[in-house]
Amino acid sequence: MSLEMHKLTNEMNSSVLQSKKINKQIDHFQKTSFQVISSTESCVICNKVLTIRKFITFPCYHSFHQDCLVRVILNSNDYKFKNSIYKLQKKIMLNKGNKEVINELKAEIDELLSTKCALCTDIKINDIEEPLMKAGDREQDEWEL
Ligand SMILES: [Zn+2]
Ligand SMILES: [Zn+2]
Repeated sequence: MSLEMHKLTNEMNSSVLQSKKINKQIDHFQKTSFQVISSTESCVICNKVLTIRKFITFPCYHSFHQDCLVRVILNSNDYKFKNSIYKLQKKIMLNKGNKEVINELKAEIDELLSTKCALCTDIKINDIEEPLMKAGDREQDEWEL
């Protein structure tokens, strides 16, 4: 009986040790993957210092202001990504005044934004191309008239 108890305590101890070890590993991982942002680092979109506004840094070391990143995505060809952001922004508008819901929606946008770096993924910024296309379309309309 006492031997059984002893065995049980030993098992418990080893499982506590195991979880302590895991905790240590997580701790270590968090420390090593933490990126130090210097106060002079700037946003890749507007080139202004990051720390003046809310910002997101990706593992590739590209950093964006949150609103700059939203703007880039809304001007991109990534319709699926754009739509998800649009939908969340619309929900925020509809829930005006409801702080709790808005904070939740904002967190959802942040989560969405942090899934991919706009510079390293297939997001194409068509800021320049789109106005040209539209101007071309209009000219054609005039010709037809
Ligand atoms: Zn910016
Ligand atoms: Zn990147």
